[in-house]
Amino acid sequence: MTDFVRIWYVSAQRLCNFRCTYCVSINDYAKSNKADWPEEDRERFNKIVAWIADRPFRIGIRLATLGEPFASRPFLGKAAWLTTRPNIDFVELLTNGSLLKRRLAQLDREGDVTKISLWATYHPTEISLSRFIDSVRFAQERYGCFAVVNGLLFPDNEDSVVELKRAAAEAGLRFNLDLGYDPLTPHGVLTRLDDMVPILRDQHEDGIARAIRLGAAAELLEVNVAAMRDLRGGLCSAGHDYFYIGIRGDVYRCSRYQALGKDRLGNVLDDGFELQLSDGRWTPCGAGFGCGNKEDFLNLRRLAAEGRPAAPSLGWIDRREPTAPEGTDASVMTAKTMSAAHQRTEGVH
Ligand code: SF4
Repeated sequence: MTDFVRIWYVSAQRLCNFRCTYCVSINDYAKSNKADWPEEDRERFNKIVAWIADRPFRIGIRLATLGEPFASRPFLGKAAWLTTRPNIDFVELLTNGSLLKRRLAQLDREGDVTKISLWATYHPTEISLSRFIDSVRFAQERYGCFAVVNGLLFPDNEDSVVELKRAAAEAGLRFNLDLGYDPLTPHGVLTRLDDMVPILRDQHEDGIARAIRLGAAAELLEVNVAAMRDLRGGLCSAGHDYFYIGIRGDVYRCSRYQALGKDRLGNVLDDGFELQLSDGRWTPCGAGFGCGNKEDFLNLRRLAAEGRPAAPSLGWIDRREPTAPEGTDASVMTAKTMSAAHQRTEGVH
């Protein structure tokens, strides 16, 4: 059995301070601008987090939310507690970046903030570019968080993506570009990438070329498209050194298996549940097609890191360091951050 496992857990924390029109937290899993989460959801979250911390292996976890994690002090309290557990290598939070300056202090007070990894997505209708970049840089420089600045590409926001990439480079921050999804297309069994992604809908080839030109990773996009269309013959390590936990505690090899209701491994909240991960690293994928979440398809054999230290993020594949201007605080702190991150994850794959 492997000694290091990555987990993607989507919790029901809902409160968010933004109102993005393309937010994918909708319907039963809608974010809220008013309320955080019902008591029942919070109790379930607490139990699932305790179960995760109790695993007999080292863990890197993407602790996802429906809302903005930094809007919820109870959520941050549990995230901080997780970072104090010796078997937790990193806790990755997906954030809009707006509350980092105010709320990272809680994680520092209550936990080990250097284990916090931030996937910070820029939402240009809700926050200025300068404030966003300033906040993420603060997290990286002041607290040593591993941070990635993430942009979402839609048909009409090319200028904003260009500006974001430039600002991230100037600040010495990692940059990633993802394809923006249309929240109104069904995310169920028959998902098709061309339907879900507005920039691919009308001019597919142009959309991919455009994304690469603007900074998206070409290899990753290629696998993204292939994994959506045809997984036959694909070998994958999901279910061995990675698995997915849904809001209600159901455990699956990956989120695509959950969407298909395929081969559920059990439920964390059931008495006597024992997680059985596969012994061999590579096993055939039985999903057929439709693997569209990066946390999942990064486990396909052709993209998995072989013999290299893994980054403390489930979404980051570019292992080059961001370049900060010589002699700036950013260059010094980035080196410190990476040293800590490298030590935490060295040799895990
Ligand atoms: S390729 Fe995708 S759908 Fe198939 S097992 Fe791996 S993560 Fe799951």
